[in-house]
Amino acid sequence: MIFRIMGKVISIPNEINQDLIRQAEMESPKECCGLLGGNDGLVSSRYPLLNRAAIPETSYFAAPDERFRAIKLMRERGEELIAIYHSHPKTDPYPSEKDLDMAFYAQAVYLIISLKNDVSARAFTIDSPKVSEVAIKII
Ligand SMILES: [Zn+2]
Repeated sequence: MIFRIMGKVISIPNEINQDLIRQAEMESPKECCGLLGGNDGLVSSRYPLLNRAAIPETSYFAAPDERFRAIKLMRERGEELIAIYHSHPKTDPYPSEKDLDMAFYAQAVYLIISLKNDVSARAFTIDSPKVSEVAIKII
């Protein structure tokens, strides 16, 4: 199913989507995190990051130097930052209070992969406190 809200959509190749799910499952019960790079809303690379949050079961935080290294590699490949992703091992794929507090990039898409019940994912732009859904298209 494709949600189309504010005309925004991100396209994720199935292989990268499978890698995202695998990363979320491997790091559970901790949240996993990382960046997705690509062009024009089409994801072409995944940049997994280590979750260095104090309580990684319910929050995520990537070390700035590791984040900058991923962004640098992305630029070298001619990609833009498309999305910041993380997982919710036990809760729905919707931004938590903490996610809203930590959403500093109004232009970024926040992708959340939930392992609650079945695997599911939703994406949003967050201009705190305003949350808008972004469609995810698996291609
Ligand atoms: Zn979260």
